Amino acid sequence: MASTRPRDPYEVLGVDRSADDARVKKAFRRLARELHPDVNRHDPDAEEKFKEAAEAYEILSDPERRATYDRYGHDGLRQGGFAPNFEGFGSISDLFEAFFGGGGFGGSFGAGAGAGRMGPMQGADIAVSAEVSLADAARGASVALSFEAVDRCEVCHGNGAQPGTPIVTCERCGGAGVLQAVSRSPFGQIVRQVACDVCGGEGRTPESPCERCDGRGREVRRRTLNVDVPAGIADGQRIRLSGRGHAGERGGPPGDLYVLVHVAPDERFVRDGDDLVAVLDVPAPLAALGATLPVPTLEGEEEVEVPAGTQPGDVIRLRGRGMPRLRREGRAGDLRVVVDVVVPRRLSGEQRELLERLAASLRPENLSEDGSLVAKLRRLLR
Ligand SMILES: [Zn+2]
Ligand SMILES: [Zn+2]
Repeated sequence: MASTRPRDPYEVLGVDRSADDARVKKAFRRLARELHPDVNRHDPDAEEKFKEAAEAYEILSDPERRATYDRYGHDGLRQGGFAPNFEGFGSISDLFEAFFGGGGFGGSFGAGAGAGRMGPMQGADIAVSAEVSLADAARGASVALSFEAVDRCEVCHGNGAQPGTPIVTCERCGGAGVLQAVSRSPFGQIVRQVACDVCGGEGRTPESPCERCDGRGREVRRRTLNVDVPAGIADGQRIRLSGRGHAGERGGPPGDLYVLVHVAPDERFVRDGDDLVAVLDVPAPLAALGATLPVPTLEGEEEVEVPAGTQPGDVIRLRGRGMPRLRREGRAGDLRVVVDVVVPRRLSGEQRELLERLAASLRPENLSEDGSLVAKLRRLLR
């Protein structure tokens, strides 16, 4: 955070200068509750805001500090040797735990804190992305992935000991797996149990740590994996592979692997749900006469009948030639071919003469519309 001037602690807590201790405490608790990570999961500034609130509370809850601040402001406090004391708190969860005790808000902090810290811990999830072509998205495809993941150490098979050496009781915690940590806070001294930093909560450590993984039992390795992308998948959909994430700790299960699928845009088609839409340029005389013209499909070009009298915006529908429906065997969307009638340009003298003769011969029934252009647009957009 940028080192701007600290804010006025009264302003931070939203109390006036005559507020008594009970008011200050109440204001801080209310604010802290709002910034609680279980409530305020998506505010990236929650931790900084909480620290600011805690610092304001440290000042206003101590009569001597409060008096110093009232007379001399933040500069006076700094000269008096006051500095907010948050070291040793790794995260906002630790901060809350220190101030209110583990789960003291009636909520859990999720994995990695509280009672779960010392037991088996599930490995974290991994997210990777995979790109497929539109044709592969239609057919389904096997995509090779390569990514880094935490795995069980190959040498010690996860127990952290050099092969052939014993695992002994941890000297630091005497086998308990936990240590007492004492920290100072505005609510007085707080004693917390934290996982032993030597054995990580297990109470036992290898006598000679595995040289490959430094005794951690886990190592980062590059993994390759083929993932089956199902037919009909859309851009931005995720495939979850249970248990293929990072390895767990202390016997915990592995996390999951999420594959975010990108379907590369195909310049020949626009995807509309399960349908594909393509544009076919038809020269005006052929639109009038009718013709057989090649149209792109996912399986390659295909001859399509353009009926006589085809108008701009008319749609030729090829049933079942769109995208397959995800996980629904045998059903697929349509390929909608939208006709764009191209009017000839840069005419030669002979062409001009032919068209002039055509124009002169046209009668009202040649030009009457079956439906309005607006009605056609509605059909098209349906
Ligand atoms: Zn190892
Ligand atoms: Zn230990």
